Amino acid sequence: MNIEHEIATSRYLFGNDFDLSFHQLPYRANMATWDVTTYKYWSGGVYDFNAIDPNMGYDPSKGGKRPYPLGPELPGAEDYLKAKATDSASAATAWSTGYKTDDGNLAWLPGDPDGGALKTIAELLRERKGYAIGVVSTVPFTHATPAAFVSHNKSRNNYHAIGAEILNEVKPEVVIGAGHPGYDGTPTFNYISADEYNNLTGGFYSDEYVFVERASGVDGGVSVLAAAQQAVSEGKKIFGLFGLERAGNFESLEPQDMPGTPLVLQATRENPTYAEATLAALKVLSQDPDGFFLMTEQGDIDWANHANDFKRMVGTTKDLHDGVQAVIDFVNQPGDGMDWDNTLILVTADHSNSYMRNQVKMEAGNLPLQDGMEYPDGEVTYGSTNHTNELVRLYAVGADTTKFIKYEGRWYPGTRILDNTQLFHIMMEAAGEAVESQLNVVP
Ligand SMILES: [Zn+2]
Repeated sequence: MNIEHEIATSRYLFGNDFDLSFHQLPYRANMATWDVTTYKYWSGGVYDFNAIDPNMGYDPSKGGKRPYPLGPELPGAEDYLKAKATDSASAATAWSTGYKTDDGNLAWLPGDPDGGALKTIAELLRERKGYAIGVVSTVPFTHATPAAFVSHNKSRNNYHAIGAEILNEVKPEVVIGAGHPGYDGTPTFNYISADEYNNLTGGFYSDEYVFVERASGVDGGVSVLAAAQQAVSEGKKIFGLFGLERAGNFESLEPQDMPGTPLVLQATRENPTYAEATLAALKVLSQDPDGFFLMTEQGDIDWANHANDFKRMVGTTKDLHDGVQAVIDFVNQPGDGMDWDNTLILVTADHSNSYMRNQVKMEAGNLPLQDGMEYPDGEVTYGSTNHTNELVRLYAVGADTTKFIKYEGRWYPGTRILDNTQLFHIMMEAAGEAVESQLNVVP
C-alpha cells in the first residue's frame, strides 16, 4: 500500500484525503522498505551487513525524501522505484528480527546458511517477558507476513512445513487467517497440509486450541468471536481458518459506485471482517497479565494492487481502516488495564505496489470507470503490477512514540525516513527490551 491508495480510499469514504482511522494517529513518518535483493541489484551483487550504504537500497535523491504526493515526483523516479523492490517475506523479516534478508526468506539470514534461523520479536517477547503472541491475516496464515513472525524458513513457499512449525513448535496463542483447504469443493491443500488440517478438525490440538473454521451459511464474524470467548473461558488458544481455497483470501470487500453515498458491501458473511478477526485476537491475547504482541495484516490490499484492481483496493483498504479503528476502540475501553501508556500501535505497509496515481480528485462514493485493469476515463493510472521501492507511511500511537524521533534520518540524514529494520528496535525498546542493531551503516 502506498499513500496514493490511502488517499483514494479516504476520498471514496469521506471526500477528503486523510480521514482514515490511522491518519489520525499522532506520530507519522516515512519508511524505506528495501531488502538484500534490492540492495544487490544496485550494488552489483555485494551486501555486507558490516558496511551498509543505505542509499544503495533507497536513494532519496532519486526516489524522493517523501513519498508522492507529500513530495514532488522527481524526474526518473518512476523507473528507479519500479526497478527492484522487496518481497513480503524479507520485509516482514526486517520487522520481526531487525535483519535485512533476501527475497523469500522468513526469519532467516541472507544467503540461506544452515542454522540461519533468527528469533522473532514474538519469540523474544514471549521468552523474556511472558507475552502472549498472535498473528492475524486476511490471506493464508502460512503466507509471508504472518509466517515471518511465527516460523523460520529459507523459502516462503514451503507452506506445509511453515504450517507444521506454527502448529507444533511455535504454537502462538492466536492464529487467525485464510487458507481454508476444503470449503468450496474438493479440498486443495495449498496453504495447509492434509495432515495438519485433519489434526485440527479431528481434535488433535483440542487440549490447547479452540478451532473455528468457515462453514456454509455460518456468519464468520459471529463464529470467530464466539470461539475467542470460548478460548478465554477455557484458558485456551485460538486457531481460526477461513477464506477460499482457490484464491486463498477472505473475499474482498466491495465498494459500490454510488456518488455521494459511499457503500461498501461484504462479498459473504462466511468470513470475518478484518476488524472482527483482529478483535477476536485481542480478546484472547489481552487475557495475559504479562502483555502481548500481535501482528495483524490486511494482506489482500497487496493482492488487489497486483491486479491493478482499484475497486477491490478501496474495499480492502476500507477493511484496514475499520480494523485499526476497532483496535483503537479496544484500547480505549476502560477497566482492562490497557491504555496509551502501556500499549503501542504501529500501522504501516510492508512495501508499496502498482505505482498507482490518482489523476482526478474523486468525490465520496465515486469510483472510476473500470474495465478489468483498464481505466478508460483516466481517473487513475497504474505503472506496475508488482511491488515498488517507494517510501511507505508509518503511523503510530501510544507508549514511547517520542522515542521514534531518534531514528528519523539516522540512515538518511536530512530526511524523516526510517528504515524498516528500525521498527523491530522501536517495538523492542517499547517493551523494555532494547537491543542493538547488528547492521552497521557506513557514512
Ligand atoms: Zn505482493
